[in-house]
Amino acid sequence: MNKDMNYGKDYQYIPATSIASGSGIEVLPDLYQFTVQIVNIHLIGHPNAEKFVLIDAGMPKSSQMIISAVEERFGEGRQPEAIILTHGHFDHVGALIKLVEKWNVPVYAHTLEMPYVTGEEKYPKPDASVEGGLIAKMSPMFPNDPIDLGDNVQSLPEDGTVPHLPEFKWIHTPGHSPGQVSLFRESDRALIAADTFVTVKKESLYKVLTQEQEISGPPRYLTTDWAAAKASVDKLARLKPSIAVTGHGLPMAGEELEKNLKKLVDEFDDIAKPDYGKYVN
Ligand SMILES: [Zn+2]
Ligand SMILES: [Zn+2]
Repeated sequence: MNKDMNYGKDYQYIPATSIASGSGIEVLPDLYQFTVQIVNIHLIGHPNAEKFVLIDAGMPKSSQMIISAVEERFGEGRQPEAIILTHGHFDHVGALIKLVEKWNVPVYAHTLEMPYVTGEEKYPKPDASVEGGLIAKMSPMFPNDPIDLGDNVQSLPEDGTVPHLPEFKWIHTPGHSPGQVSLFRESDRALIAADTFVTVKKESLYKVLTQEQEISGPPRYLTTDWAAAKASVDKLARLKPSIAVTGHGLPMAGEELEKNLKKLVDEFDDIAKPDYGKYVN
């Protein structure tokens, strides 16, 4: 682990937040959700467990907040065994370099996401014109240059297994980004859905601020392939998850999750797909 790591030139703090920022929820005894401004990170492992894994790395300049959350749950000076990326959008890799520098742990992402986390390719620019409110309007200030993790990131194994998380399988859920993955644990049907669907209408600043719960498709201004996005929601719904955590918003479980997911699948074009925007055709 020695090749230099760099954020893109447009890396910066984003002044957007929600009332949940800085707080955590124990979703399951070994699944903890912590909110960094407008995005969630997830920690898999029982409190004070010997081994645990971090999913995603929050907003730009949030490493202190993430380290504090980790130490509060697992003990001072503790660090995860690995960091698994659901995808490489700025709000999921924001603190990553600082964390890797501090912890020196391996990072994993889907093969198709690798160009976006090794400085090779930029995601398409966020669509500020998309139907859907204030956060989309803010999107031109979001960092768009790719992070470069050098040789500190590696591809997830082809066979669907997740390093350091033997109970979980990764599921390819493209659409929101080409190599987005969700994580699923068969034994209790727990789902980490990434941004395949979210439980808050992120486009609405009011709903982000209040975290009002409502299932919706992937965040619109960054989603570029709506047919794939729809197929991915369908794929996750067919797993019949008992509980789901998402990149944005509160966890959802049981009948509420089942009902809302079914609705999202049945009415995807109405609920999720924007009526206008540069990636809609
Ligand atoms: Zn995203
Ligand atoms: Zn996101």
